[in-house]
Amino acid sequence: MDDAERVEQLRALEELKSAAAAAQAQITAAFVASQRAEQEAAGVPRRDVGKGIAAQVALARRESPHRGNTLVGVATALVAEMPHTLAALAAGVLSEHRAQLMVKETACLTREDRARVDAEVCGDLDRVATLGNRRLAAAAAKAACRLDPHAVAERAAYAVRERRVSLRPAPDTMVWLTALLPVAEGVACYAALTKTADTARAAGDQRGRGQIMADTLVERVTGQTQASAVPVSISLVMTDKTLLAGDPEPGHVAGYGPIPAQTARDLVRAADRAWLRRLYTHPTSGQLVAADSVARCFPAGLAALIATRDQTCRTPWCDAPVRHTDHIQPAATGGPTSLANGQGLCEACNQAKQAARWRSRVTHDGTRAGPHTVALTTPTGHTYTSRAPDPPGTTTAPPGKPRLDLVFDAPWILAA
Ligand SMILES: [Zn+2]
Repeated sequence: MDDAERVEQLRALEELKSAAAAAQAQITAAFVASQRAEQEAAGVPRRDVGKGIAAQVALARRESPHRGNTLVGVATALVAEMPHTLAALAAGVLSEHRAQLMVKETACLTREDRARVDAEVCGDLDRVATLGNRRLAAAAAKAACRLDPHAVAERAAYAVRERRVSLRPAPDTMVWLTALLPVAEGVACYAALTKTADTARAAGDQRGRGQIMADTLVERVTGQTQASAVPVSISLVMTDKTLLAGDPEPGHVAGYGPIPAQTARDLVRAADRAWLRRLYTHPTSGQLVAADSVARCFPAGLAALIATRDQTCRTPWCDAPVRHTDHIQPAATGGPTSLANGQGLCEACNQAKQAARWRSRVTHDGTRAGPHTVALTTPTGHTYTSRAPDPPGTTTAPPGKPRLDLVFDAPWILAA
């Protein structure tokens, strides 16, 4: 193959991906309609119809339930209301992402207005092929503003209700703390931080502008006078050898993920005080099997142990934080309140699991070799395996040897 052919192939494969996305949209829309009809026929109460459908789409596509919701919304809109956008996707002229932008920018419009924007922006395939993400979204937004300015303004008011703060891991033991804010408030926050940094720098502060802004944000949010002295509560799991014998096995911070052994030791050393909880791991499976105090274990301690074992929601491909401790076999049908029968789920997955004809069953309780596993079966009969993550030390511990994990429940003082 020469380079000209390689370029042709790249283009052809891109068009194939778009065409596949269009086919997936059509299949998704048909699946949603069929599942809803089935639920209605089975006498599912009106307010529960639709539950668990997007979660099945998410599992099939190996995506999170949150993304499953988006995919279902986009597919339904494309198939039912936006034939030109769907045709552009099928022809390989629009990517899946751009088709989603079209759906998003017209979400507040009536069916008729949406169809008008669809025809206006995507009716001409040659023209739409030349538009990048921003220009495509702008073209759709402009048409929407012209057709129904009231709906666009109303959507802006609705968007304000979606304001929130979120946290996600970044490389090198850092995190992204992000806030979704109304434009005036967001710009005001940024301007206040910039101004503080500029004033401090003018007065001889040696820190960089970005560093001062970050420190000021932490100080003002936590009410501390120094960013480095913020008391926080973190849960850190590491092996006894990592803590005491300089072993390189990484530790694990709840809500973040693995951290280097030395960073874990530094956190412990810097802590003002720490609560220590011993967790016992099974000699052959390496899985967490018990905490040292049964009295504290039940129920808050057991829930904490399950959250430590599972780290994030146990639904495959869902990385959301654990919000609920779920009985895998429902308590109502005799499922015990135990480590083996418990799993950490996020809010959305806990709800999806309540929908009709979803079944969960423990396939491995974690006391024999191998991790705790749960089989999740959806209404169509597809089964997905949820496997508990390995606690620190599992891969390096010699088989057959009992091992001890340490969990520190702070409050930490991350003082210099
Ligand atoms: Zn989940």
